[in-house]
Amino acid sequence: MGDKTLMPVAEARQRILSSLQPMVPERVTLNKAHGRVLAGNVVAQRTQPPFDISAMDGYAVRAQDVASPPARLMVVGEAAAGGAYDGTLGENEAVRIFTGAPLPKGADAIVIQEDTERDGDHVITNFAAEPGAHIRKAGIDFTEGAVGLEAGRRLSSADIAFAAAMNMPNVIVHRRPKIAFFSTGDELVLPGTTPGPNQIVSSNNDGLAALIEEAGGIPFDLGVVADEVIAIQSAGRHAQDSDMLVTLGGASVGDHDLVQKALGADGLKVDFWRIAMRPGKPVMFGTYRELPMLGLPGNPVSALVCAHLFLVPAIAAMQGTQAPQRLRQARLGCALPQNGPREDYMRAELADHDNALPVATPFEVQDSSMLSILSAAGCLVIRPPHAAAAKAGDVVQVMPLR
Ligand code: AMP
Ligand code: MG
Repeated sequence: MGDKTLMPVAEARQRILSSLQPMVPERVTLNKAHGRVLAGNVVAQRTQPPFDISAMDGYAVRAQDVASPPARLMVVGEAAAGGAYDGTLGENEAVRIFTGAPLPKGADAIVIQEDTERDGDHVITNFAAEPGAHIRKAGIDFTEGAVGLEAGRRLSSADIAFAAAMNMPNVIVHRRPKIAFFSTGDELVLPGTTPGPNQIVSSNNDGLAALIEEAGGIPFDLGVVADEVIAIQSAGRHAQDSDMLVTLGGASVGDHDLVQKALGADGLKVDFWRIAMRPGKPVMFGTYRELPMLGLPGNPVSALVCAHLFLVPAIAAMQGTQAPQRLRQARLGCALPQNGPREDYMRAELADHDNALPVATPFEVQDSSMLSILSAAGCLVIRPPHAAAAKAGDVVQVMPLR
């Protein structure tokens, strides 16, 4: 198959996303809601503040009484947060008040403590106060019945605090998709075991689990599987109660690349295979026994880069939202030759600069097996198919990795 028949990255991503449904909603308490995506609006159950409150420690007064300082007022009572002065303020009267306490009836301004002197039962105010000074009006934050947070929003810590203030102790969010995955390869053993002769340690399982978690999914690690049809089919069946299956490795055209053959004989329908990108050409997407299935290449850098490009947005779509737009502009730190027919995702150092675009410098070695370089990389420099040769200082698109 020539490169002309490879699918462009954007089209592949679009086809994956359009085949996915958001997970059913579930109700979770706020302490479980961080990072989750709302499946319904959060509506304020109350008005905040529910009444006019003092924003400062000081004295509640009638602005007209303190208009010509100094003014001498009779202190008739006290209001602390959680309490109130129940009377009505009369002429030349003041109430000692603290932050968060309701504004007493009759008062229309707060004179802050620092602008007063206390004299027994009286207070002397040394400055005038505008009506409304240091008062938080009822409802300035939100009012009962208002939509505070909209469906589709991924909840930040501030959103959680906001929901709590709206008196919603729990929220309706999309269930986190459970993503089953396994690596294939006779050469692979799990980290912490001693590889036999000719074997290496599988890095992809743990790396992918971390990325799935970061994207909001629940990783379900089915381990490493031998390059055998039966073993691959058996692992595939273990994914049945998950929401998606991801395979790692065995996706290419070698004699030992058995994922398509094994799962193809067990219900896999391939939608597309092979993408015009580097690293990661042999990516595959299809449906395996009703489960969306993504086949990623085994080379560790290819696996993770493709997971960033296809799996992270897929997990977002399964939560009823979109992955945050991550593309940025940067200036190249070195010249690059003309690109070939595949979209290139080059591992690069990313250096921030005050008041200027960051500088992205691709590593000289771009081997798709080298995790030391992916780990050191701050971004991927994206080079479109057939991009012209570029000079140091040219502006390029990058995808930050941290
Ligand atoms: P494959 O896609 O199965 O042809 O694998 C391509 C390369 O990636 C081979 O050198 C494999 O040994 C390596 N590889 C495959 N799976 C993993 C894994 N889980 N961890 C580390 N390396 C892997
Ligand atoms: Mg293999």
